[in-house]
Amino acid sequence: IELKFKDQVVIVTGSSSGIGKACAVHFGNNGAHVVVNYSSNAEAGQQVVDEIKANGGSAILVKADVSKEEDVKALFAETVNQFGRVDVLVSNAGLQQDASFLEMTLAQWQKVIDINLTGQFLTCREAAKQFIAQNQSGTEVSHSELAIGKIVLMSSVHDVIPWAGHVNYAASKGGVMMFMKSISQELAPHKIRVNSVSPGAIKTPINKEVWSDPDKYQSLLHLIPYKRIGTAQDVAKAVAWLASDDSDYVNGETLYIDGGMTLYPEFADNG
Ligand code: NAD
Repeated sequence: IELKFKDQVVIVTGSSSGIGKACAVHFGNNGAHVVVNYSSNAEAGQQVVDEIKANGGSAILVKADVSKEEDVKALFAETVNQFGRVDVLVSNAGLQQDASFLEMTLAQWQKVIDINLTGQFLTCREAAKQFIAQNQSGTEVSHSELAIGKIVLMSSVHDVIPWAGHVNYAASKGGVMMFMKSISQELAPHKIRVNSVSPGAIKTPINKEVWSDPDKYQSLLHLIPYKRIGTAQDVAKAVAWLASDDSDYVNGETLYIDGGMTLYPEFADNG
């Protein structure tokens, strides 16, 4: 079988769990050298590294809080130190800090913006700098017409669906969309491709209290025309396509991976 990412170096932020973990394992299974990043749970991160290696892949574990500039710089420095280059960034780390708007504290607002939006700024900026630097410094000139680096940002259906009770999260993901489009426009002349994926309801620890409760699970299914909750692998496969040369002419796009959640599902039985 063809290994689509053979010898490419892929950083996946927040890959100790959920969607990031599935992405890291998928890239590892497809020949990449994977940088598994975590911010607090080293043991969970190590398990992902072990899984990739058990499948015959290559991976290292690097601790970094994506909202801290020095951590992000160190993450890229360590990657280049270990693997010599970076080919793909999957900027996935994110969280929720839910509260009604009237009750939301500045700390809850700031934390989500810092990690979900500023974290994307810091990681994408470092990746773009590295792509450009390694492309210029090489003695061998690339004659390829293909992208010199690829970035996939983890957004959410809440970059277009408003979400009461989660305004910090929706604002961060709405911000991710315009950030992504703007840097895509700016980086395209450098032959760097930037796109987002926007998952709907994906079964991960972030929303366990929804899918583990039978009533909440049923009302969630009402919002999904395809009538199933997504898996982290559903998202990982789409991320891999956007990071591969198969999507070389795709730039500044948001790919919804949501079983139709963004199709105004209430209108399906409103005839
Ligand atoms: P998760 O909680 O399993 O994973 C989140 C990951 O981000 C964890 O590994 C966590 O350690 C990491 N993280 C948190 N803060 C960090 C920081 N400061 N620095 C580095 N890493 C940090 O949840 P998930 O569902 O896998 O979420 C991953 C991404 O997918 C998030 O950006 C989330 O907004 C997005 N998303 C998830 C869903 C869903 O339904 N699960 C839907 C849409 C978007």
